[in-house]
Amino acid sequence: MEVIVAQHAGFCFGVTKAVDTVYEQIDRTDAGNIYTYGPIIHNETVVSDLEKKGVRVIESEADIEGLKGQKGTIVIRSHGVTRKAQAALEETGLNIVDATCPFVKRIHKVVAEESQKGKSIIVVGSANHPEVEGIVSYVQGKVYVIDGPESAEKFDENRELDYTLVAQTTFNKKKFQETVEIFKNNGYNINIVNTICNATDERQTEAEEIASKADAMIVIGGAHSSNSRKLYEICKEKCADTYFIQTLEDLHLNLTENVKLVGITAGASTPKNIIEEVQNYVRTNF
Ligand code: SF4
Repeated sequence: MEVIVAQHAGFCFGVTKAVDTVYEQIDRTDAGNIYTYGPIIHNETVVSDLEKKGVRVIESEADIEGLKGQKGTIVIRSHGVTRKAQAALEETGLNIVDATCPFVKRIHKVVAEESQKGKSIIVVGSANHPEVEGIVSYVQGKVYVIDGPESAEKFDENRELDYTLVAQTTFNKKKFQETVEIFKNNGYNINIVNTICNATDERQTEAEEIASKADAMIVIGGAHSSNSRKLYEICKEKCADTYFIQTLEDLHLNLTENVKLVGITAGASTPKNIIEEVQNYVRTNF
């Protein structure tokens, strides 16, 4: 049986940068207590290793409030934060280290500039995802969040207005194109800025290619990881026998003799060692 592991799998540039940033702070003698605003990535193994090294996760406004007057460092993760949270973090007086991915920062800039020009903004993504909440907070004016083609069909706003449409960085690129087509066909005057990041694009393209020829497909990623779920969705469409797991422990493979090719891919927040473990297990046991 053949096993193919996607070349574009696991930590992306932005996640690597964010995780490295926290470890760099741990190595510093002047960082004081270290906090991350939300788990630094959607991976329990990494988060628990950081916890063991004294890094604490803060999540709420009350947590931020509680830090006032203390000393230490807060790292902002790759998703970025809302303007309100950014201001509250700065008000604590702690040292703020911003590890927001540049691809996300670019979207903040686009929506801020476009909305200042008077355009209404449409964000294609999950409304309650922290990255999208952050993007929305940079809009000065009307903003709509839609989660894909179905919502685009139902969208019924003023067609006289000018719109700018952006996407969550990890959005499914095929669904993004479908969404864009619907807006164009429905007569909206819309400026499209495709903000799906390169890492997502590469991972989705390769995952689809492998899943198209694989008899079984394994997608490794955190349960809350948006980009990993999108990979699962894409693979499942091409390969009915697709498994979504967080670690090797979740994997209960049921492969028949007919399975000749198993594909493996992983979301942007999956560490290399987990991918290796899964790959070794499949190669050794089947
Ligand atoms: S998935 Fe893309 S936007 Fe998100 S951290 Fe990685 S490179 Fe940055």
